[in-house]
Amino acid sequence: MAMPILKCPFLSQLTFQQVRASAPHILSTGVESCPIFSNFTRKISTSNIHNASNLSSTNVSSSMSRPLSLNEIKAVHEKMLEQKNHQYLSSKVKPTISNVNTLMNTKIPTPYGEIIISAECEDLLCPFLKATPIAFRRVNIDQDTIEVNRKLNTDKIARPITLPKIDNANPFEYDAFFDAKIEAKRLDNSYRIFKRVQRKSGCFPQAEEKKHLHDDLESRTITVWCSNDYLGLGQHPKLRKAVIDAVTAHGSGSGGTRNISGTSPLHEKLEEQLARLHQKESALLFTSCYVANDTALFTLAKSLPQCHILSDSGNHASMIQGIRNSQVPKHVFRHNDVNHLEELLKKIPRHIPKIVAFETVHSMDGSICDLETMLDVAHEYGSITFIDEVHAVGLYGHNGAGVGERDHVLHKMDIISGTLGKAFGSIGGYIAGSAKMTDFVRSYGSGFIFTTSMPPTVLASALAAIEISMSDEGRALRRKQQENVRELRSKLVDAGLPVIMSPSHIIPIHVGNAALATLLCNHLLDRYSIYIQSINYPTVQRGTERLRIAATPYHTSEMIDQLVDALTHVWKDVGLALKSVAQPQQQQPIALRHHA
Ligand code: PLP
Repeated sequence: MAMPILKCPFLSQLTFQQVRASAPHILSTGVESCPIFSNFTRKISTSNIHNASNLSSTNVSSSMSRPLSLNEIKAVHEKMLEQKNHQYLSSKVKPTISNVNTLMNTKIPTPYGEIIISAECEDLLCPFLKATPIAFRRVNIDQDTIEVNRKLNTDKIARPITLPKIDNANPFEYDAFFDAKIEAKRLDNSYRIFKRVQRKSGCFPQAEEKKHLHDDLESRTITVWCSNDYLGLGQHPKLRKAVIDAVTAHGSGSGGTRNISGTSPLHEKLEEQLARLHQKESALLFTSCYVANDTALFTLAKSLPQCHILSDSGNHASMIQGIRNSQVPKHVFRHNDVNHLEELLKKIPRHIPKIVAFETVHSMDGSICDLETMLDVAHEYGSITFIDEVHAVGLYGHNGAGVGERDHVLHKMDIISGTLGKAFGSIGGYIAGSAKMTDFVRSYGSGFIFTTSMPPTVLASALAAIEISMSDEGRALRRKQQENVRELRSKLVDAGLPVIMSPSHIIPIHVGNAALATLLCNHLLDRYSIYIQSINYPTVQRGTERLRIAATPYHTSEMIDQLVDALTHVWKDVGLALKSVAQPQQQQPIALRHHA
């Protein structure tokens, strides 16, 4: 088929790979801003550009028969901008006196967002390209490399969004408020578009990506590399049978809160089994570990007289929420830094109740804390310890009780929180500890008391999962998972990818830019049927965006090779550089969430 030539003087300076790699992002951020590129992308298909080497020589049909000059393109852009502003004024804002005043002081959103471009990119003056958060550098023909400007300051790209003013004479403009907040997310690339994945029983770790909700057009099999069903137990025949038996015997829901007809023998059996797993007197179930962390920390901190909380700077949002809500004094120590924890503890009088809260396996950097030292230091200063083992339960220790069991320090852990939703393949959360402590949270914790209890299907499946975890089968699954993690990690490192080295099963790969991280994942899915989710703000801090990979016992060596191969290709295609293989991998700075 005869294909037209792309006439854009700016885009034609880029390599084919740059444009191909960035096309989805360019499209999503502003194809309507650029008449030339939108025309080009409408006509071009992946197969058509597959063998092209450079856009300037690509054969692409265009309704524009001659290249536009720089001034002509600028004029088109300015006109579009004017139209957009006009549309914005006429469609979004009702002409009241108050909002006319507001508009006088408002920077109207441009189709481009706030434009920040580095000096290195000054020669690409296209107003359209400037609008994308990807800053291109010209290709260096002599060296076979394309570099993306890594100095990009994503904070600056997010232009301040003007929220509707409160005006006593008129009702608040709710839609304008929601619009502005969503727009802010889109502009800083933190707006989330979920991938629609249908898990297929018996096919783990493969699943089906459903492009369309109501039909199977374009559905296809994909390999999932980012599931927290770490051992694939979610599809284990024993769990499936347990769920079917439970629904047959007891029906669907639990029928009430734990207090009002919602406590069954299954609840009590599961609590008993969890207590046994963690070698504690007692355990208490919650509908998720988010609720468990939030409720337990809030309830304890709020109730203990003059309580202070010491919180790891990398703590999960669920802990942060409970701590914040309690409004007690909090002291944030550097991630897994025992010395800093001790420094802070020293400043608080010994008689004051203190809760030291942290995770064993960090969910996003994969680090594992020096658990025994942390516990010893906390106890030395009279604290009670609250340890989130969410990413460790099922995976570490002889029975899968977590890092505490692996390190033989379960007896030193005062309160353990865990999830039934990850390695245990279901949903729900719990805390385990002394009988008095769990009874206290049971009696005072709003997030425990005032919510419907977990249904029989979930309880039965969790019981089956823990039984497997404590058996030889569980130990074999953990061994195989660790083998696969080691194989994958070393192959990724050998390929020159910037793996953030960690001692756990979590393999993060540093990207450092939200748009690029999303782009990499889109390419992996679209071109290689591989699903990895990019991890962007607010899960991690801006500038520390990453891919987070989780190998399971069911990923094969062949799948590992396919992943490494695909990842290195897309990595280069989006213009990122691979490390030279001889160069030793540096530990990336640990990137943490906002702390409490
Ligand atoms: N704690 C950590 C460290 C987590 O990563 C998560 C996340 O999913 C939770 C707690 C919440 O667990 P759940 O998914 O059971 O609510």
